[in-house]
Amino acid sequence: MKLGVEAALVGGSLVPGDVEILDGRIARVGMSSPNGRGTAVPGFIDLQVNGFGGVDFLEADAEGYRRAGEALLETGVTGYLPTLITTPEDELVAAMREIPIVAEGPRILGIHLEGPFLSQRRLGTHPPSARRDPDLELLERLLAAGPVRIMTLAPELPGADALIEALQARGVTVSCGHSDATAEQANAAFDLGVRTVTHLFNAMRPFEHRDPGIAGAALAREDVIVQIINDGVHLAPDTVGLVWRAAAGRVALVTDAMAGAGVPDGAYSLGSLEVVVRDGAVRGPNGVLAGSVLTMIDAVRNLHALGVGLEDAIGAATSVPADVLGLPTLGRLDVDLPADLVVLGDGLEIESVFVGGEARVVA
Ligand code: ZN
Repeated sequence: MKLGVEAALVGGSLVPGDVEILDGRIARVGMSSPNGRGTAVPGFIDLQVNGFGGVDFLEADAEGYRRAGEALLETGVTGYLPTLITTPEDELVAAMREIPIVAEGPRILGIHLEGPFLSQRRLGTHPPSARRDPDLELLERLLAAGPVRIMTLAPELPGADALIEALQARGVTVSCGHSDATAEQANAAFDLGVRTVTHLFNAMRPFEHRDPGIAGAALAREDVIVQIINDGVHLAPDTVGLVWRAAAGRVALVTDAMAGAGVPDGAYSLGSLEVVVRDGAVRGPNGVLAGSVLTMIDAVRNLHALGVGLEDAIGAATSVPADVLGLPTLGRLDVDLPADLVVLGDGLEIESVFVGGEARVVA
């Protein structure tokens, strides 16, 4: 099947011509397409999704995942990590067991556990009663409960080094976040092999000129990917501009979306927390930000609107998050790779979405 596009983002560069799909994979690119319309780009990969389309993943069953998956597909996401925030162990394990191994919608690339080994000083909306100090036995029980792919933890906690080593030995990506780490403490974690940070600047020791903290350390190193929530609420536009100038090509867009994303404003739950969605922001009872209603296509549009080239803005939603997972064939469009694609119109509207070569969304 030919897509009928006029160009495709191949290996990070726009290549004129059509794309052919065969047996779920990209068979050819750059084929003549005199009447082609739109641009094929890799499907978006979201590393941090707490819920979507009215569904909260801490309370979702298989039907909830199906509904959330359909809503995520509409926003161009073809692969994501259901993300579970700090929660009492029994509830967390129960939620992990509900995550379908094979889902019909976008690919579920594993679980992102955000907590419970976080700094009590940087919890944001995570419930303090469920926070835990590093505990290897608890970690083992959580890893046994489901396919954990990313764990966000605070590296400065006593005993965090052992967690980092245990996670890395199991092939789980460690992401530093909800952390009060100094630059020195953060660099110690990066020297242990940690290569990414969760929602840079949010729920993190703030950057100061003589105390750059984990945010400054992550930006100063060339080997660390910084994840950002680019919804215009979590970070000021100038902050995103500064991040891009420091870390172009190693910025991963995440949504941190919650149940209220993709549905009208109103009251929703984030685990045990009642939150209110209004004017693009999600806040808990105390006014603290509690996730977002951002979509990946809007995160890309927002980055592009700040002057970042389209190729690079899309890379921040595709190949860079795939690199966080250490999956070099994911988030890329090229011959022989799985046909997980989005076709964008000239105004960056989503025309169609393909997973494994199958059209799942057609505008
Ligand atoms: Zn968070």
